[in-house]
Amino acid sequence: MLEIRHLTKVYDDGTVALKDVSFTVQDGEFLVIIGLSGSGKSTLLRCINRLINPTEGEILWDGVDVAKLEGEELRKVRRRIGMVFQHFNLVKRSSVMTNVLSGRLGYAATSSSVFGRFSPADREKARQALTRLGILDQAHKRASELSGGQQQRVGIARALMQDPKMILADEPVASLDPVLAHSILQHLENLNKVDNITVLCSLHYLDLVQRYASRVIGLRAGEIVYEGDKADIMSIT
Ligand code: ADP
Ligand code: ADP
Repeated sequence: MLEIRHLTKVYDDGTVALKDVSFTVQDGEFLVIIGLSGSGKSTLLRCINRLINPTEGEILWDGVDVAKLEGEELRKVRRRIGMVFQHFNLVKRSSVMTNVLSGRLGYAATSSSVFGRFSPADREKARQALTRLGILDQAHKRASELSGGQQQRVGIARALMQDPKMILADEPVASLDPVLAHSILQHLENLNKVDNITVLCSLHYLDLVQRYASRVIGLRAGEIVYEGDKADIMSIT
């Protein structure tokens, strides 16, 4: 279970991106975060695995306050949280395989020196992830040669290398056309339903929210203005 309590983020320039945000996510939920550009969705997701540090508040993951962890303790938690980004964040000149394997390290691998660190078991796991995402045949291409939809599948395969208990997806389909958006969200839905991976995902389009969310949080100017069932979201837009 993830409990966010009184989370506030003030950036160095004084921008208040999150204001006293509190909510709870049960294991196995597909929670969608909606809100206009600038409402704090990305800041919220990035605080949860400490890509950025919250200013105040608690991020309790199975009772441990992620906001207070440092060093090895923090790395341990991060290793179980997969992250999927709007612009994929792949190392474009590296192969698909290297990009996926880098998920094992929890940071982006950039050079061939990293390649030697992976065991045959890691490579087999990467092949399985690529197979599951339907792109094993692309494994030896450079990431830059792939289409946007394929690159996002690589991003998800990379996240799977972490055996994630939770995936944080920051506008994962905002750069994709509607057909590809559905295909990516169906992969996330499959991981959620079949593997019971908790998914926190920010989305723009309400039809996608209706289709995939098990619950919805609405942010406006850094504050929660809606929390509940997707059936009611039309009333807040
Ligand atoms: P969203 O993901 O909903 O578009 P963000 O979390 O990216 O929202 O941004 C929330 C607010 O914080 C916006 O006002 C944005 O301009 C501001 N912001 C985001 N990143 C930074 C930063 N590094 N420094 C200062 N302000 C930032
Ligand atoms: P990068 O571009 O980040 O160096 P690459 O994936 O292009 O990563 O390759 C890294 C190194 O690993 C290269 O020397 C390449 O020849 C080698 N390599 C690539 N794929 C494999 C593989 N399946 N098994 C063993 N070595 C590989």
